[in-house]
Amino acid sequence: MTTVILFDVDYTLFDTERFRTTISTFAGERSFQLWEAYAAVRATEPAASLPAALARLASNDPATAQALTTALAQLDYRRFLVPGVEAVLAAARALGQPVILSEGDPSFQQEKIRRAGLAEAVDGRVLVYPEKAAHLAAVVTAFPASHYWMVDDRARLLGWFKRLLGARSTTVQVCRGPYAAEPPDPGDPWPDHRVAEIGALVPLLQRAAEHSVRRSIDPA
Ligand SMILES: [Mg+2]
Repeated sequence: MTTVILFDVDYTLFDTERFRTTISTFAGERSFQLWEAYAAVRATEPAASLPAALARLASNDPATAQALTTALAQLDYRRFLVPGVEAVLAAARALGQPVILSEGDPSFQQEKIRRAGLAEAVDGRVLVYPEKAAHLAAVVTAFPASHYWMVDDRARLLGWFKRLLGARSTTVQVCRGPYAAEPPDPGDPWPDHRVAEIGALVPLLQRAAEHSVRRSIDPA
């Protein structure tokens, strides 16, 4: 009996709002131009990223783009992990195999996940797709398990995952960020659990781990 616990990054383990506020502070009065460049990339590319926005900004404001690139390179990404991440990942390791399942620009996301210490915390089990919704079956193939937990801030994604795996899945929505109030698609189930902050997941994972130990001692 194996359990895989899939963790999203942005707005789930990583305080993306605070990260953006910090970048805006670095950008100062050029903040508007930076986020405008970001929106322009998002409108044309499947996955927007800060480096792509900076590259775009560099074409008309190379000095600001260079200053921001330097500031970004020196930033300690661990500061942006939401409180409780360590305890949640420890509880996940006690239950099964935690895996980071993120989406966005693959090279920037991989870098973010590594610099935040998340890759190391899950022994390098990291998957990044431009859009993970198209790859949920591939995730299951990459990490075979009898049961999956999926932890994400998006109820729609969790609904799609539940539709794929049914009772073999437990879905948890972390209700923060821009998708906190987004409902699942019509006909799809709501997440099994909805938590306001990631720390609330610890007792859920601990109960699941106790349950699976009891089951392995007495399979009947
Ligand atoms: Mg997210």
